[in-house]
Amino acid sequence: MTPLTTGIGPHRLERMFNRFAQLASPGSLGFIGFGLAIFLSTISSNAASAQDKANKSTGSASRSSASDAELARLRADTIEKMKQTRAGTEKLLALHEDEVKKLTAEYRQRQELYNQGLISRAELNQTERARAAAMIRMDEDKRWIAETDIAITEASMRDVLVGLPAMAPGGYSESGTLIRFNGTASWSLADAAKIEKFFSQAFGHVLPITAFGQTPTHDRLRFDHRNAMDVALHPDSNEGRSLLSYLRQAGVPFIAFRSAVPGAATGAHIHIGSPSVRAVAGADSQGVCCKR
Ligand SMILES: [Zn+2]
Repeated sequence: MTPLTTGIGPHRLERMFNRFAQLASPGSLGFIGFGLAIFLSTISSNAASAQDKANKSTGSASRSSASDAELARLRADTIEKMKQTRAGTEKLLALHEDEVKKLTAEYRQRQELYNQGLISRAELNQTERARAAAMIRMDEDKRWIAETDIAITEASMRDVLVGLPAMAPGGYSESGTLIRFNGTASWSLADAAKIEKFFSQAFGHVLPITAFGQTPTHDRLRFDHRNAMDVALHPDSNEGRSLLSYLRQAGVPFIAFRSAVPGAATGAHIHIGSPSVRAVAGADSQGVCCKR
């Protein structure tokens, strides 16, 4: 029998990019315009007399604060658009789920007919292929929604993470929404294979990685996610607990998000690596680097 599972790989950055291509933010034009305004004001400032030098530090702080505000607005705008796209994908998922139900019923009927010798094997195979294709579409919708929820969760929790006190090397803390571990191992994405091996040996299936390093979504959110990966496991699940225990033993830093919304499982996941609170180069030079 033809396998009905999709076998979709975890690193679907290209598809993520295509999904978000439509979100090319009009706000980015505003951002560029804002940058131009800063540039022009800098020229103006440079042309001023020497006595204005004393005011430069104040002006710089003011620009930085305005830049932070603009970055926050840009992120909020991006998150809003992601939520809109997510709502559209939810509707598509409902249609694809209906399609799978209908094709499954049709396949069972045809199997009966085939068993009675009333239809050919080719006719049965045709329905089976249609059902497999519908299941792929349904699985892709579900996976995309999960990826989006995780990205939205990290973006929404950024301010909370930035506001947390710094954690000592090897430190561990747990709250209703977050579990943090400041592991001291020199983690890099190149070590991901070891974690994947541990997980597949323990649970017999692949580690559900939804974001491996920097993705177009992180670019859009201006997050530095280059040396981190996200795993779609609830930290309180059996598999999640095992993974966290493995990471602590290996000294690998992580942040586990129970949820951005207390009591709701949406967006719960495990971020392996340093937190992505730092902005990508050029977007926010005043961003907090690597705070845990
Ligand atoms: Zn992450």
